[in-house]
Amino acid sequence: MSQAPAVAPPSLADEFNPFLSMAQLFNTAADHLGLDEGLREVLQRPDREMTVAIPVQMDNGSLKVFTGYRVQHNFSRGPCKGGIRYAPDVNLDEVRALAAWMTWKCAVVDVPFGGGKGGVICDPRKLSQSELEKITRRYTAGIMDILGPDRDVPAPDVNTNEQTMAWLMDTYSMHVRKTTTAIVTGKPIALGGSHGRTEATGRGVMLIAREAMKKLNLRPQDARVVVQGAGNVGGIGAMLMHREGYKIVSISDQYGAIYNEKGLDMPAVLAHVKKVGRLEGYKEATAMKGGQEALELPCEVIVPAATENQITTQNVERIKTRLIVEGANGPCTAKASKILDEKGVLVVPDILANAGGVTVSYFEWVQDRMGYFWSEERVNNSLEAIMVKSFDDVANVAQKYNVSMRIAAYILAIDRVATVYRLRGVFA
Ligand code: NAD
Repeated sequence: MSQAPAVAPPSLADEFNPFLSMAQLFNTAADHLGLDEGLREVLQRPDREMTVAIPVQMDNGSLKVFTGYRVQHNFSRGPCKGGIRYAPDVNLDEVRALAAWMTWKCAVVDVPFGGGKGGVICDPRKLSQSELEKITRRYTAGIMDILGPDRDVPAPDVNTNEQTMAWLMDTYSMHVRKTTTAIVTGKPIALGGSHGRTEATGRGVMLIAREAMKKLNLRPQDARVVVQGAGNVGGIGAMLMHREGYKIVSISDQYGAIYNEKGLDMPAVLAHVKKVGRLEGYKEATAMKGGQEALELPCEVIVPAATENQITTQNVERIKTRLIVEGANGPCTAKASKILDEKGVLVVPDILANAGGVTVSYFEWVQDRMGYFWSEERVNNSLEAIMVKSFDDVANVAQKYNVSMRIAAYILAIDRVATVYRLRGVFA
């Protein structure tokens, strides 16, 4: 376990380093708040970082060692909360940025959590179910000492799902000798998961898009929407927006994009993805090379819901939209965000737009601890109330400080976390 440096290594210090991107936005917001140097350092530096070696016996009998991380950015407002990502390009700076974003996100929607994030460097497409299970169990055992329902509560992220969470929950429970459902969220409902959790982030994106559209005096039926990512956030978000009457003209995944100017039949698109594992081959649309190209289509709304660094100084000038609702974490770099503001594009930032997931994770954690489970209707209504209130809170701060929604969300979040430090004092 080690203390994190305050900034990323200089070799990664560029526009595409999400930790530096986050730090830049943090400092702009902190300037508006007049935050002193000491608190700035406390709030930027991750509280704790852990790197673990994960030895795994592969199906062919060989032994391979994977690397796993868990970063706890800040636990002043409550247990850390944040997903676990499996991908070949996972790195500590990315995990740090994602953990910090979770701190700000939890503060924006005012749920009593701090921010954490985890990741394992691996390529899940090249691993069997049994290898994935072994990685998950050994990773959990490795970071066990810093986990717990009152310490740090993981959830799914890119390439992890409710099965991963079930293995994590089981491994933790076996170690502590009691079934501890509140150790993770995003679990199967049969294991103490919550109704509405799978759809929560996509539903939050749809609700936030609705509120932002009102600000722009646009109606769903007048809006062409380009969605990047066809997974949990993008796929479900696009489906729910389709139901609300939006025209989803394009959706992409890591293999390519599809386009239909008349609007895609989202239930049919998702049924195709379920069957063949990718968008490619869907008949009622034109195939496009990739998600990046599709972002440049003329449209009213873009929902980037795949991964970070998709709208950058390299393509921002070619973006032709009025509204961006960030389903993914960090899809627009800090530099590109500035240009989007100058172009008059309304950008609803990730730490607000995709907070539906952590909000329902909070409901799941509450239900597990109460041992009393809510109906899907109660979950969805409670989610809607929080998302709408949070949108209004951020819009009010944006008006008060005359800043973008992104900077406003940071101002709101940083102020809430700084207030906790002022009230608690610093333990010595
Ligand atoms: P997922 O694994 O379910 O789906 C990711 C999708 O993005 C897949 O369709 C994949 O093919 C596609 N993709 C990957 N690279 C792409 C590229 N370059 N161009 C186009 N498509 C690409 O993951 P997810 O859970 O939907 O997460 C997506 C993003 O949303 C991540 O940034 C994640 O951190 C963020 N997020 C997820 C949740 C959640 O509850 N799942 C909550 C908040 C934020």
